Amino acid sequence: MDLLNGFIRIGLLNMKFLKTISVREFRNILESIPRLKFEDEVINLGESFNRILSQDITSDINVPHFRKSRMDGFAIIAKDTFGAEEDNLIKLELIETIQAGDIPQKKLNKGQCSYVATGAAIPENSNGVVMVEFTDKKESEVFISKAVTPGTYIIEIGHDVKKGDIIVKENTIIDLATIGILASCGIKEVPVYKKPRVSLISTGNELICPDINKLEIGKIYDINSVVLKKAIENTGAKVDFLGIVKDDYNDLKNAIEKALNESDILILSGGTSKGEGDLGPKVLEDLTGIEIYVHGVKIKPGKPIIFVKLKKKLIFILPGYPTSALSCFYVFIDNFLRKMSGFPLRERYSKTLEIGERIYSTIGRHEFKAVKIQEDDGEKKIFPIKTGSEAISTMFYANGYIEIDELESIIEKGDKRRVYFF
Ligand code: AMP
Ligand code: MG
Repeated sequence: MDLLNGFIRIGLLNMKFLKTISVREFRNILESIPRLKFEDEVINLGESFNRILSQDITSDINVPHFRKSRMDGFAIIAKDTFGAEEDNLIKLELIETIQAGDIPQKKLNKGQCSYVATGAAIPENSNGVVMVEFTDKKESEVFISKAVTPGTYIIEIGHDVKKGDIIVKENTIIDLATIGILASCGIKEVPVYKKPRVSLISTGNELICPDINKLEIGKIYDINSVVLKKAIENTGAKVDFLGIVKDDYNDLKNAIEKALNESDILILSGGTSKGEGDLGPKVLEDLTGIEIYVHGVKIKPGKPIIFVKLKKKLIFILPGYPTSALSCFYVFIDNFLRKMSGFPLRERYSKTLEIGERIYSTIGRHEFKAVKIQEDDGEKKIFPIKTGSEAISTMFYANGYIEIDELESIIEKGDKRRVYFF
């Protein structure tokens, strides 16, 4: 499948690496890529949480499929209770006790009632339930102190779901309530779209995996693979971490080729700039059939982000600094993957709040600003985190981020901004 059908190709011909574009331009490119239709698969309902339905689902049964009681009480014929009051008790004959799960055996006649538990089936001829609170049972006689109208506390057949109706539509994300309604219809399996497959690679000679206990001078633990893996999973995609790749031309080339055989999208971090040891661009330039769409976006942090297409597959290379890698992921890739998998977009996890303290920003670069939310004058407000992308703790102390436009240099206290929560 061609991931870039209908895609805006800006400056593609002879485009060289390191032609910086704006955030808007990059977003336009990503937004113009249509949502893919992935193949579907049938899975157990119990495993379907957060998956996307690939077909409308109809019910083969009414839910409930029998009339049942909403309360513990006495099933009656409504007319028999008319006039009942605390000082005018009406006496009925108790003919049966029906617990949840029981099949009623006796039909009511005038002047009779049956005990019904919550969820129990209503006996034939009954058209209402009097709550236990308004009754007084003496052996096989029940005294009613409240009149009820027809239909009181009876859940009618098909009240929740009608046989043959579409219960849930195609493209719906399966949440807990959806699992509940499907379970009520006796549905055991559901057809869902397969997840987009994303490969993840970390690059850098300095990176080591957490299995190694001894941290030598110059070495650091790989952060991006752990953080990005979870970030990608949160978009509804399936992630394969292919490991840490050394800054070696052949190793990186092999890893990229392997990733593209196994997935639709590759996300790689580290090695994006043209400095020594930064092999990403070099390897990509040499791959046949490569189409370079983006290398460099006017964003802070994270300028040297790369986006290319190869053999109908897409490759994103994010800057190595964990804060830059994650901010680029949020600004560009998060919504892109959410659209691919059919997940709700990031906007759902955002809110407009007031700025609690003046925030400065560099003109000429769109800024991803980590912020914390604090109470000020009894109101929740946005405050900037003072450290930058060099500090891993920047994100740790933040609750979310705001985006500051390329041409803005100051956001005044009191202005309103949309915060996207982590
Ligand atoms: P690079 O983009 O490869 O030049 O890396 C920029 C900085 O980010 C360097 O200090 C790297 O050590 C660091 N870095 C790169 N990848 C990772 C990673 N996966 N985990 C933690 N730090 C990283
Ligand atoms: Mg590196």
